[in-house]
Amino acid sequence: MTHALLAIDVQNDFCPGGALAVAGGDEIVAGINTAMAGFDAVVLTQDWHPAGHSSFASTHNAALMSMTEMPYGPQVLWPDHCIQGSTGAAFHSDLQTNRADLIIRKGYNPEIDSYSAFFENDKTTPTGLEGYLRTRGIDKLTLVGLATDFCVNYSAVDAAKLGFDVSVNLALCRAIDFDGSLDAAKSGMAAAGVTLA
Ligand SMILES: [Zn+2]
Repeated sequence: MTHALLAIDVQNDFCPGGALAVAGGDEIVAGINTAMAGFDAVVLTQDWHPAGHSSFASTHNAALMSMTEMPYGPQVLWPDHCIQGSTGAAFHSDLQTNRADLIIRKGYNPEIDSYSAFFENDKTTPTGLEGYLRTRGIDKLTLVGLATDFCVNYSAVDAAKLGFDVSVNLALCRAIDFDGSLDAAKSGMAAAGVTLA
C-alpha cells in the first residue's frame, strides 16, 4: 500500500491566539513534523476563504457559532478566519511545509464552506484531492490536524466513503468540541469505517 499523511489545516487561526483557536492546536505541530518521515507522501490542507465568506457570522450579522440554513444544508457561522493571504491563514510557523508534496486549499468558493479536503459542504463539488491521490497510487491515509470534530472528521469520512483505507491519529489532532461535536464525530468516523488510533 502507498500511505500518505494528510495534515488538516495546521494554520495560525486554528492555533491559540488565532481567530478560531482550537485549544492545544499548537501542541500537535512537533509530532506531525516527526510523523512525516514515516509516510510515502505528505499532503497539507489549508483553509482559504475570501473576505466576506458565507460561513462567517459577520457576513450575516449573526451570532458567532449560530446555525444557518444554506442551500446545501445547515452551516455553523464562524468568526472570520483563514482569509486568503492573511497571517491567520498561514501555516503554523513550526510546521515543516517543505516536506509536503501537495498543499491543497479549500473554502475558496464564497458561497460554500468546505470542511472536507475532498468535497465542499454541498457534498458534491470535488476539491480534486481524490484524483491526485489516486493518480499517485495512494490508497492508505492517516489524518492528523485541526479540528478533530470538523475538518478532520469530514475529510476522514469522505475518504472512507471513497474507498481509501483511513485512520485518524487522535493524539495528533485537537478538537473544537462544540455542543457535543467531538463525541458525534468519533461515532460518525467509526461508523464510516475509519480507524481511530
Ligand atoms: Zn473555514
